[in-house]
Amino acid sequence: MKLNQLTIKELHKKLKAKEISPFEVATDVLSHVDGVEEDIHAYVSLNNNLLDDSKNVTEIDNPLAGIPIAVKDNMCTKGVLTTCSSEILYNHLPVYDATVVNKLKRQNYVMVGKTNLDEFAMGSSTENSAFKITRNPWNLETVPGGSSGGSAAAVAADMCIAALGSDTGGSIRQPASLCGVVGMKPTYGLVSRYGLVAFASSLDQIGPITKDVTDCAISLQAIAGHDNKDSTSLGVNTPDYRQALSAEVKGLKIGLIEELMVEGIQKEVKELTDHGLNLLEKMGASVGPVSLPHLEYALSAYYIIAPAEASSNLARFDSVRYGLREEAEDMVDTYKKTRAKGFGDEVKRRIMLGTYALSAGYYDAYYGQAQKVRTLIIDDFKKAFEKYDVLVSPTSPTTAFKIGEKATDPLQMYLSDICTIPVNLAGLPAISIPCGVDDKGLPVGFQIIGKHLDESTVIKAAYALEQEIGFKEKPKLLKRD
Ligand code: GLN
Repeated sequence: MKLNQLTIKELHKKLKAKEISPFEVATDVLSHVDGVEEDIHAYVSLNNNLLDDSKNVTEIDNPLAGIPIAVKDNMCTKGVLTTCSSEILYNHLPVYDATVVNKLKRQNYVMVGKTNLDEFAMGSSTENSAFKITRNPWNLETVPGGSSGGSAAAVAADMCIAALGSDTGGSIRQPASLCGVVGMKPTYGLVSRYGLVAFASSLDQIGPITKDVTDCAISLQAIAGHDNKDSTSLGVNTPDYRQALSAEVKGLKIGLIEELMVEGIQKEVKELTDHGLNLLEKMGASVGPVSLPHLEYALSAYYIIAPAEASSNLARFDSVRYGLREEAEDMVDTYKKTRAKGFGDEVKRRIMLGTYALSAGYYDAYYGQAQKVRTLIIDDFKKAFEKYDVLVSPTSPTTAFKIGEKATDPLQMYLSDICTIPVNLAGLPAISIPCGVDDKGLPVGFQIIGKHLDESTVIKAAYALEQEIGFKEKPKLLKRD
């Protein structure tokens, strides 16, 4: 078995025992990437110094030392192109590292490259990238999900050992689900957003995409924690998430969200969600249905709040400070020309939606109303958590869909996140783990949602289920191995 096929935990053990070197790991990752990247298109850019960087890792004194990890290309990397898969960030070389990148550096990780995404993380298929369409390693005709599609595809295809993604409405969990890997969105504020290019600041959260739940806990441990540079960072001490890897769910109270098991959810997705629940019940958890009546309005509220925040956040791309510059007669025309050329269709759609929702005379009717709905959804979750320790649902209503299938129908695309968006609105932690494959052999994700800052219980339930399911399938592609 090649080293790129192993997990963080497995590699760490071998590295620590000096059975292998970081250089050997990096070599296997790189040669595999060289073989399959032309099929997958997971990366916007690769780290040309990967092998040299790996040689510089001489001490294996922490879990990520010498581990090749990929970073979504909306996180700032000092001196390394950061594009958000947008033309408007043309040639942008950040002068600082995002806090998460800094934290990984402190652990002596090695960066494989920057992964592809839907432009500014707006989308659910990675088709909105200005550069390339990432393909799902399970079936190259299908999308990997989005917006962290490059990160999820790279992990699924063993083109890195783990990756970072960002999740505003599902962008870690939905691609993890479609690519058959583990993805976790932590509690809002647990992981610093400093250096993450902002999409919707009240929803954005960085999290890990990994091959299994153990690696998820290890990676979360490395990136979580308070950061003075992010005013929304929570001032809490992080527990040891690895202690949650006990597979002990006896007595755990689990609620199945009724509203997310209705019509429109693919048959196999429903069946495998029920199957996962049965397994948890057999292991001693108690399971019951729970209703969150306002989830019906979650998508509508999200598509007001997220574009409103995006329209404000994206105003900074004015051609003056960084990125693309299309010269015109005067300043206003320079802005217009630059933004017209630099932003893709979906980004423009969001800016227009958001600007409209925030404009005088409409603010209360749209933005104000959406915020009220958000409060009702938060209250729904609070009530549900009075009775249950964790809540579950499918991660995505369907498995991976065909490239192009929803690209021209924004509404259909928006529906892909129906199960994940409510969690962001409420700022809660949630994980997606693979729970089987559908009739086409495509992976299905199982979502576990936790109480505010209760990542440990989410990880515990996920780990238990993972052990019981024993999901071992791998994408068949990897033909050049
Ligand atoms: N697909 C959702 C959107 O397009 C969520 C994206 C995300 O989480 N970044 O807004």
